[in-house]
Amino acid sequence: FEEPAEALVGGLNSPQREAVLTTEGPVLMLAGAGTGKTAALTARLAHLVRSRRAWPSEILCVTFTNRAAREMRERVGQMIGPAVEGMPWLGTFHSIAAKMLRRHAELVGLQPNYTIIDTDDQLRLLKQLIQAEGLDEKRWPARQLAGCIDRWKNRGLNPADLDAGENEAYANGKGQKFYSLYQDRLKTLNACDFGDLLLHMLNILRQHREVLEQYRQRFKYVMVDEYQDTNQVQYLWLRLLAQGRQNICVVGDDDQSIYSWRGAEVANILRFEKDFPGAKVIRLEQNYRSTPQILAAASGLISENSERLGKTLWTERHAGDPVRIIGIWDGPEEARRIGDEIERLEREGATLSQVAILVRAQYQTREFEDRFIQIGLNYRIVGGFRFYERAEIRDALAYLRVIAQPADDLAFERIYNTPKRGLGAKALEKLHLHARRRGIPLASAAIEIADTDELPARPRNTFVSMMRDFARWRDLGNTVSPADLLRTVMDESGYTDALQAERTAEAAGRLENLAELARAMEEYETLGDFLEHVSLVMDNEAADETEKVTIMTMHAAKGLEFDHVFLPGWEEGVFPSQRAIDEGGLASLEEERRLAYVAITRARRRCTILHAANRRIYGQWTSSIPSRFVAELPQEHIAQESTMSGGASLWRAQWSEHADPFAGVARAQPARTVTRGPGWQRAASKEYSPAPRRVAESTRSAASFAAKPRSDVSTG
Ligand code: ATP
Ligand code: MG
Repeated sequence: FEEPAEALVGGLNSPQREAVLTTEGPVLMLAGAGTGKTAALTARLAHLVRSRRAWPSEILCVTFTNRAAREMRERVGQMIGPAVEGMPWLGTFHSIAAKMLRRHAELVGLQPNYTIIDTDDQLRLLKQLIQAEGLDEKRWPARQLAGCIDRWKNRGLNPADLDAGENEAYANGKGQKFYSLYQDRLKTLNACDFGDLLLHMLNILRQHREVLEQYRQRFKYVMVDEYQDTNQVQYLWLRLLAQGRQNICVVGDDDQSIYSWRGAEVANILRFEKDFPGAKVIRLEQNYRSTPQILAAASGLISENSERLGKTLWTERHAGDPVRIIGIWDGPEEARRIGDEIERLEREGATLSQVAILVRAQYQTREFEDRFIQIGLNYRIVGGFRFYERAEIRDALAYLRVIAQPADDLAFERIYNTPKRGLGAKALEKLHLHARRRGIPLASAAIEIADTDELPARPRNTFVSMMRDFARWRDLGNTVSPADLLRTVMDESGYTDALQAERTAEAAGRLENLAELARAMEEYETLGDFLEHVSLVMDNEAADETEKVTIMTMHAAKGLEFDHVFLPGWEEGVFPSQRAIDEGGLASLEEERRLAYVAITRARRRCTILHAANRRIYGQWTSSIPSRFVAELPQEHIAQESTMSGGASLWRAQWSEHADPFAGVARAQPARTVTRGPGWQRAASKEYSPAPRRVAESTRSAASFAAKPRSDVSTG
């Protein structure tokens, strides 16, 4: 008999109610997308407080993002009123761990006012250590070490816990040494990095029984959303805390595990019943978010995965439209098409905040940004910088600005020592003095100063050779296209090499962005035209209250929902990503497929998938194959359109030739061919072999072809 509960669970279905009302003992809510897991968890939190089972401060509730925490706080607030203010333990793993660590910092040798350093600081520290130990940073980049350390921390490993294999992961067996040097250094600085927040807390809970007991007493209830994406250290930490009272409720969906690259382990959800014997497993099957067509398309796709628990989903919503698959000619047409579609939705009364474009990789946002600015459509980029604001793009633009306009001191300052040339703040200071005295720009001062003794020989010579480079590039700009100029500059300045040397996923992403920048420049005849375009784009920050289309990565869209979702770039090499294909393992392809499932299930009413027949790479049109995921969508729930003749039926035949989808993959595997210098190889160059059918069309003829589309719509 739960009178106060009735108001809270009134709108919920019966398994959801069960999840809310089963307050004691371990509960695992395992259910597909949009089935109301987060909604049930929120109601449960409110119920625990309303029924006085716990004070707000006695509930530990973990969400995946700060934004999700804010939303939950808001919703719970609507149910329980101001009591929600007293909920210090509702947040992400990191924010909760940071709060705990403040209270016990001294147990790991820190003071309570410790600082949390960001990745830039982390890299700087590691670089110093690498230098101090006389290691060649070019050969063993700090970023690589940072990657190893993050991975170890995600797995709950302290320096002493590393095995020989892990130790080998950096500088031929120096992993452990550097990891422990780094930890010592942090301690002296009274600092810790992100990964430390959880690792320190785990160490404390493991080594100090009284602290563990204190928290086990405090947290009467533990709840976790998006449990499928917890990593090892988070899992160990949770298990320690919850194993006292056993009142833990986790919710998740094995099909939406998309963070294994950050150490998340879907196995955590699978072993929950073993860790907490007698756990009640609740399955939700009714989806409240999407139309049956969208749901069926997503379910059909994910059923191609072998490693899954499997579940059924149904919905009472009206059938709605099938998932649209639109084959278009090329990237620019993709952006035009989506822009047109969104304007049409707007005319039909849709609000822009209910429209999202979800991309696989950050670089894909550029084409949409350019187009939307052109047609005056408001957009916002979530979970990332707008394309032209990213560091590597700003660096590249700074080079181009100095070439176009040697008096651009700001641009000069940005890149005079990027990549590292051994020019420090002192050299710049001297240069400034000289420039001011003579009333000339920095770039000119860098030339003049060579004839003086104002600088030591080393920096003087560096400036000389740098300015020689700039003079050469300026000449080159008269004969080659702006895009080719950019590629040359990035290669010759050493910028590309520096990124390559990092050998990290992040650096690879930056290279992709640079390749995308070059692609954007293909459309401009002169460098001046392009730079003008960029300054207009950068200036276009619309006021915040306006309705905006959301552009974000599929990863960032987890847990969210939109009426209308556009999914561009469903082509082999874009999605699934080239990296996943290259790795070739089932695991990485299945993770990409889960990502596809997450993406489609964000849509409430309409979902539109696009794939382009051609992408322009290095000024060459290269044909692309539609994503295998498109072919895996159940025919009866999709509607295909193509602005090209024959295209759609052709490729579908090609994929379905092979009974085993992976056999087909192996045969259609793209062999990567390098079209330019090594710097650009990893970025985005892909050609498909054995059919590297390069479409020999110029921009103009491609555009005219696209202008008279032949529509062949086929509905399953
Ligand atoms: P995801 O796996 O994507 O995180 P989820 O399982 O957490 O999804 P929710 O976001 O909680 O699903 O719910 C999806 C949508 O369904 C929301 O708009 C929510 O308000 C609505 N919803 C949830 N439960 C019910 C219900 N019992 N009746 C009506 N609508 C519901
Ligand atoms: Mg959710």
